[in-house]
Amino acid sequence: MIVNLDKTWTPDSDGIVYISIGFLDEDDPKWYDDIDSIRYHAGDWEDAVPCLQFDWRYDIEQCDVRIELGGTKSWSKIGTNALDYDWPEPTMHLPNRNNCSDLEWHRHIRHEFGHMLGAEHEQFSPRFPWKFDRDAVIEDVGSSKAQTDMLKTFKKSDNILCSEFDEDSIMLYNIEKRWLKKKKPRGRSPRSISEKHHLSDLDKSTMRKAYHCRDHHRSPSVSDSSDYDTDYDDPNPPPPDFPGRDIDQLRGFW
Ligand SMILES: [Zn+2]
Repeated sequence: MIVNLDKTWTPDSDGIVYISIGFLDEDDPKWYDDIDSIRYHAGDWEDAVPCLQFDWRYDIEQCDVRIELGGTKSWSKIGTNALDYDWPEPTMHLPNRNNCSDLEWHRHIRHEFGHMLGAEHEQFSPRFPWKFDRDAVIEDVGSSKAQTDMLKTFKKSDNILCSEFDEDSIMLYNIEKRWLKKKKPRGRSPRSISEKHHLSDLDKSTMRKAYHCRDHHRSPSVSDSSDYDTDYDDPNPPPPDFPGRDIDQLRGFW
């Protein structure tokens, strides 16, 4: 998990981070069930990070985060970048629930709310254990998507909180084995990784630490940016690949 510390929300005087959130189509009955489901599954982040409180509101003009619904795509501004946009512009988009499976729907919500809290894509980690084969990535996903969603890397000097690389992070995309190269001859062997649908333990503990929740010391360890171990030696054979989606499916879900 990577949290961009320049984009996290500020706590109130009581130490709680309140984020006001509304839906641009709140009054349309066709979205009632979807909105209820979004509130429910976004609550996973509140459960994981006790000093966060989502303030679901109807006065959309006053909300920090404005969610638009429909179609098949999902995206969100990163953390407080949402404040740079005025009503009625959306700051997050989630798809029509009928356009995706239950698992994909849950991932969309948890992933985009991760971005809304300041999380970046896990494949941008300075601790990502492989190098991307740029040509292979571009061939499969296109140049634009490759540049914005795959081939970016944060540096040690960036103001981020970064766990060890986490294959279980909700913020990681599908990774194809053919996109990867070893970092050095004895480095970790490339393999495919499938996207996940739940918050991982490191997602939860890293976000708790980013928001200075008092119980973060009880969670799985999160390192600061001082000891990046990019020279990873893998003494064991790699585990078998996860079943991956085919590329056509992958193209449709970012
Ligand atoms: Zn994303």
